[in-house]
Amino acid sequence: MGESDEVRAAVGSEGPVLPFPRVLVKVSGEALMGPEPFGLHPPTVSAIARDLAALRERGCEVAVVVGGGNILRGARVAGEDLARPTADNMGMLATVMNALALEQAVEKAGVPARTMSAIAMPSVCEPYARQQALRHLRRGRVVILAGGTGNPYFTTDTGAVLRAAELDCAAVLKATNVDGVYSADPKTDPNAVRYEHLTHDEALARDLKVMDAAAFALAREASLSIIVFSIRDAGAITAAATGAGRATLVSP
Ligand code: UDP
Repeated sequence: MGESDEVRAAVGSEGPVLPFPRVLVKVSGEALMGPEPFGLHPPTVSAIARDLAALRERGCEVAVVVGGGNILRGARVAGEDLARPTADNMGMLATVMNALALEQAVEKAGVPARTMSAIAMPSVCEPYARQQALRHLRRGRVVILAGGTGNPYFTTDTGAVLRAAELDCAAVLKATNVDGVYSADPKTDPNAVRYEHLTHDEALARDLKVMDAAAFALAREASLSIIVFSIRDAGAITAAATGAGRATLVSP
């Protein structure tokens, strides 16, 4: 059985299987916002942190890339008076704020965590360095990766795929507001069909928006599996990692 068959079999199966020794979880800024219109919702941050801690306690090494859209998106605020690279730097700083909140919440849930930022700010958190991140992961720490790729014009989805490839993660668990990838927007189209499994090529051919184009191109290039699932239910991250939840698997 090939690697992708194993992943498919594991994700499709019931029960407490841990198919992935190491995963990268992408948590958007919006997921941390909970019911609020902006910023952080502490009970939601704590619930996500408990889920990450539970996954770690089940033996999976956990890296996390956090977004910043609950605070600032560069493309949205850039304009005549604010250059896009500056606006994007502000967006990357927003991800650091989220990462620090999540780091503390994971520690409160009883699992050691380390924030590493692509933009060096050593008095606040560690600068991202691959070898050091791998060391933390092997020692059982949840590694929270802030600052996206460290470059403007990118998104934290691209940062998630990049770090997952660099850190040899078996899959990217992409937490969203819907329980997978649909043929059309399920909020507006009652005939939208949810896919259980897609290949990267199928997602491209059907023009399905799994991630933004740069992120998806990198995932395809790196043959990285992506699991798209809804963060809304308690324990959703662990469920996605064990194949117990509703999700779409995108694999080579
Ligand atoms: N950003 C960036 N480079 C990156 C990652 C993020 O410039 O590699 C900036 C960009 O302005 C983006 C913001 O940070 O809008 C917040 O990230 P993102 O929109 O991906 O957050 P999410 O939608 O996941 O909350």
